[in-house]
Amino acid sequence: MSETGNEAAHCSICELKATTPDESVVYSDDLWTVMLVLDVPGWFMITANRHSDDWLWGMSEQESSTLGPLIHRVSLAARGEADAERVYLMGFGEKMQHLHFMLLGRSGSTSAELRGPGLLAHAPELADRSEAFRVGARMRARLASVS
Ligand SMILES: [Zn+2]
Repeated sequence: MSETGNEAAHCSICELKATTPDESVVYSDDLWTVMLVLDVPGWFMITANRHSDDWLWGMSEQESSTLGPLIHRVSLAARGEADAERVYLMGFGEKMQHLHFMLLGRSGSTSAELRGPGLLAHAPELADRSEAFRVGARMRARLASVS
């Protein structure tokens, strides 16, 4: 239940945030960062900027009041810019307690057998870094226009 400010030793989420190139960040504000994840077009990670080892229980009042609207905005942008017919939200907190979720846009062209929670396992075959960056740029523009 410790909280160490903005960075924590051996936190892969803090490390990922610190090393993610600007072109992978589609949105950020004082509390949250939304970035491309796993090089799959339309897949994003939403992470709290503040490190906490206390998963959902460690959210501040401001974080909890802004997370829902942020998920809504990112989901709308994914529908408009990433051809998302559905958006899957996944957050496990098993290895890293720093609050982070994955938001996976699932397009209408995704085959029926890939739909559902098993989709995550297909990231290697769905990855397309160039297309992920193109989608990310459109998402960044849309999210900037409605903030
Ligand atoms: Zn962290």
